[in-house]
Amino acid sequence: MEMEEIPCNLCESRDARPFLKAMDFLIKTEKEYSLVKCRKCGLVYLSPRPRNLMLLYGADSYAHYSIAPPNEKTGIVKVIVSTVRPAWKLFIRMVFGEDIWELERLEKGKLLDIGCSSGTYIYGMKSNGWEVTGIEPSKFAAEKARYLGLNVINSTFEKAEIAGQGKFDVITMKQVIEHVPYPSKALGKVHRILRKGGILVVDTPDIGSWEYMLFGKNWGSLEVPRHVTLFDKSTLRRMLEKNGFEVVEIRSEIYPAGFIGGLNFMTGENLRLIFNSRVFFWVVALPYSIAARLFGSGKIAATAIKK
Ligand SMILES: [Zn+2]
Repeated sequence: MEMEEIPCNLCESRDARPFLKAMDFLIKTEKEYSLVKCRKCGLVYLSPRPRNLMLLYGADSYAHYSIAPPNEKTGIVKVIVSTVRPAWKLFIRMVFGEDIWELERLEKGKLLDIGCSSGTYIYGMKSNGWEVTGIEPSKFAAEKARYLGLNVINSTFEKAEIAGQGKFDVITMKQVIEHVPYPSKALGKVHRILRKGGILVVDTPDIGSWEYMLFGKNWGSLEVPRHVTLFDKSTLRRMLEKNGFEVVEIRSEIYPAGFIGGLNFMTGENLRLIFNSRVFFWVVALPYSIAARLFGSGKIAATAIKK
């Protein structure tokens, strides 16, 4: 694999110090990858890295793509879900502060989800009355989303032709910006296709979190070498501002997967039946994540407006 050293994507400096060496836990090899930290602005990124990042994903069925399609509820289940849902949302709002459904309160418009995977999220938003478009580089995932009747462009975001789609009211990038080869350039493109006053929602792992301090090179959200940039709240904010956004909110979100992944990696996956069980999720991982969020969890969510 041909490797290259790259400059900082936030400030363009080439002056970086070694930050951490870590292994690929998904495609297991003996190879160690190096994360560096920019001495000038503090951005953490993978360098050197493969010239062709797509090689890092192995088969097209990368784990993140394989989300089951949403199933329509019918009969008594539908009645229960529609009764419980508002109460559940209220609970989420109380526990997590500003909530993951905040977009539901806005006037419905055009929404673009970058890295939409098999379309579960935009399927839900379409059902709520949004006009949705997705972009997804995996052919496998994009086809699953199209099967649900969704408008999905099968391309990387960098190469996607979206000028003809008009300007979007909302753009979401969920667990995507850490994968993008040049995140600042990608945010520049997001800025161009968003309407003035439009909203961008980004979430990504937080390398500044104490969850990272706890697990270090075993942290579940490190995901090297597929995560090429690891942000903290400060570097994410500055990259958004550099690209013409005003950050209106930046917060920690609960993310049990980072904790579960970390425990699995630390124990060599020998206890995976326990850590991946539903009981462990509900009794340990979820309560942990709710408590962790109060002190800054392993995941950042930012809401920004195009100035
Ligand atoms: Zn820098």
